[in-house]
Amino acid sequence: MEPVTTLTQLYELLDSLRDTKRHLVASLLKGEQPAEEQLGRLKVGGERLSSVPKEGKKHVLYASGTKVLLTLHYTLSELEKDIIYLSQGTQGLYAHFQKFYPSFQEEVDTVVKQLKEKALHVLITDRDGTINNYSENYNLCTQSVYNACFLHQFAKKMRHTIIVTSAPLQGLREQGLLPEDDSVIYAGSKGRAYLHRGTVQRQPLGQQEQDMLSKLKERLLELLEAEHNKLFSLIGSGFQEKHGQLTIARQDINHSVSDESSRAFLETIKRAVKEVDPEEAYFSIEDTGLDIEILLKTKADKAFDKGDGIAYVSKQLHISDEHRLICGDTESDLSLITEGAEVIFVTQDERLKQRVKEQAPQAMFVSHPDTLISILERLSEELP
Ligand SMILES: [Mg+2]
Repeated sequence: MEPVTTLTQLYELLDSLRDTKRHLVASLLKGEQPAEEQLGRLKVGGERLSSVPKEGKKHVLYASGTKVLLTLHYTLSELEKDIIYLSQGTQGLYAHFQKFYPSFQEEVDTVVKQLKEKALHVLITDRDGTINNYSENYNLCTQSVYNACFLHQFAKKMRHTIIVTSAPLQGLREQGLLPEDDSVIYAGSKGRAYLHRGTVQRQPLGQQEQDMLSKLKERLLELLEAEHNKLFSLIGSGFQEKHGQLTIARQDINHSVSDESSRAFLETIKRAVKEVDPEEAYFSIEDTGLDIEILLKTKADKAFDKGDGIAYVSKQLHISDEHRLICGDTESDLSLITEGAEVIFVTQDERLKQRVKEQAPQAMFVSHPDTLISILERLSEELP
């Protein structure tokens, strides 16, 4: 078995696992049995990942000679669930969930009972932390086979299903397993860009803004090519281009980069932005400590939220605001809630629950994304 010691090797392995999972999903959607050979590939991939050396709970890998600590928990546990799903079916997977989530069965039964008689036509949902388990690294958040199949089954019952995230559309496409002609609509950058039946639509930016963004992107990519900067495209969020925004990591949650190099990199980026936009007319920089976000300034008083994005997508695709099921897991998803919609939030945070209830007294709550995706699977059997 070939060992995995560098981040590059890790990403190569993850890419090939993703291809295998895509093939598996495609066969399952056609009603075919999963091929033994592909199941075997998932198992071998899991063994290779499990053999990555650990320090405490973190896995140790190298990128350009620098030690990077990261946890492969998401990837490994999702692989395990897929192997159970593919060999033991949905009931086998549910039995597995019950072992991990004590209130799983009760939460599923309660919500299904509540919703199965309702007329639901539109699902609007956040992805990470809502219908997909959280991954600590943006590059490692590939959807699981069971997750794609459950979502697809529910989407077949809906007239429209929209998955909306703050992250760029590109990532949703890359990390998703459903075929792109599927009925699920992916909306990235809070709905500023969306993918519908294989075609990408974007809320138009002005020509000047677009030109400035391209210029800045070119400059940043040039900087990332330099040997001493390469690391920053491999850790944490890496480099991301969202619609109207560029993001570049300067640190990850495991603190793989020294404070000194991280700060120096921030200064380098600030200088590059200043070079491209000397009057500071176009861009503002927000530094989260982990990521440097460079945003196009907007003239609107209020920041663009997911609710605005969904309003845009709905208008473009003539999606009704009635009979909606809205799902989310953080405050940024509150803007998705519309009058009269059914609402499920994945949270154990009492303060957030309170805020959801203020907007939607009928809202229901579950504890884990796996619970919600299982509810969707069950409802796909029960809904009229
Ligand atoms: Mg979320």
